[in-house]
Amino acid sequence: MSEFPPCPKCKCEYTYSNGFLMVCPECFHEWNPAEEVETVSDTTSDKILDANGNQLQDGDTVVVIKDLPVKGSSKPVKAGTKVKNIRLTDGDHNIDCKIDGFGSMGLKSEYVRKA
Ligand SMILES: [Zn+2]
Repeated sequence: MSEFPPCPKCKCEYTYSNGFLMVCPECFHEWNPAEEVETVSDTTSDKILDANGNQLQDGDTVVVIKDLPVKGSSKPVKAGTKVKNIRLTDGDHNIDCKIDGFGSMGLKSEYVRKA
């Protein structure tokens, strides 16, 4: 493995540093690796907030604030149900959890509040 990043233009792996810029021996492209890293970094991660605007985290305990219908079940998850050890995900239902009597399911963060 090379200690230098591959050429952003031609993906050549035999790049080297001339002490100032990175140089590609294949296409003679020169670039500043520091700049490259900056443009690649993407740190816009959406925070997941509960109904009150508090940020939720993996492992939190939350309380359901309204009755939620459950697919494949005749009874809803009742408002006031405590849900322990949630796991945050990217989906439309952004909380993964297990609820007694229902098993694994997804919740929307807007329908819970931090316990
Ligand atoms: Zn190149």
